[in-house]
Amino acid sequence: MQGERMDSTPSEGGEGAEQAAPPAQASAVAFTPLYAPRRHQDVVRRHAVLVPLMGPGGDDPKILDQVGRLIAQRRARLYALADAGLPEISGGERQGRRLRFALNCKPSFVVTKEQTACCNLAFCPFCWARWVYEVWVNIEHAFFADAPPGATSPQDLIYRSATQRVHVSFTPDHGGGVADGLAAYALRRTKIRNRRGAEFGLRCPGVVGGFEMLHVNPGDDGRWAVNIRQVLMATPGAPDPAPVPAKDYRYERTQRPGRLAVRDAVALANRYPTFLMRGEPAVAVRYLAARRRRQISAMTGGFRNKAAGPPDNAP
Ligand SMILES: [Zn+2]
Repeated sequence: MQGERMDSTPSEGGEGAEQAAPPAQASAVAFTPLYAPRRHQDVVRRHAVLVPLMGPGGDDPKILDQVGRLIAQRRARLYALADAGLPEISGGERQGRRLRFALNCKPSFVVTKEQTACCNLAFCPFCWARWVYEVWVNIEHAFFADAPPGATSPQDLIYRSATQRVHVSFTPDHGGGVADGLAAYALRRTKIRNRRGAEFGLRCPGVVGGFEMLHVNPGDDGRWAVNIRQVLMATPGAPDPAPVPAKDYRYERTQRPGRLAVRDAVALANRYPTFLMRGEPAVAVRYLAARRRRQISAMTGGFRNKAAGPPDNAP
């Protein structure tokens, strides 16, 4: 599970190396993207994050150019989020160091000559892509570990999603303080989704592996639009999970799926919410505050077998 991150070297480009550099931009590493790998594990990340942000891919020069531009846009976004008050990178000397450190987060999607460490900031598209990789490794293993190389999975793939609207307005939390409606919603969801027989739950009869992601966007009605996205692995004879009463309920079941079908489902479920990079900085900061220390994703059953626990950077 840690394979992807083992090649980053925290000593290089680390905080210590940058402490003394007053102009932050001066310490930015000029990354040299070499090529874009194209295994399933690479494509799933690209489809989840790079395509929504930068458009469809293509040959290597095109993808390298997209990543180069994203590196610059992401750095500019770091400053914009700091200006908007993102607590991790704004308000003090330590936060200033974290910001300068985060400028050089190891790019995803391409192999670069330079090796740097990951920033682990929740908005970061590169770190988001690494998270997608970890989800993919778990789910791919569950579907295909017992299948001969190149064969389809003996299990059924189910993808389903539906949108629920959540108020942005503040509601009292349990400690007597206040919380964004999204924070309260995410907390509620962690309690409901694992309950056996719960509506839109992960544990349905015959479902042997479940993954859920809350795909959140600012809605045009002033509320959060929370699109619950689930990837389920079901035994071939399992009944369809009960439909969810929602106007946009989407349900697709694939028998004996190949890696491509599973990959597309994982990429869709984990799609990067582009407003984090492109929307009003203040809205992004509000979202990041609401989901701080909340699990917006969950993995159950057979999908958890490969990992000892949830990845360190689980969103
Ligand atoms: Zn990062």
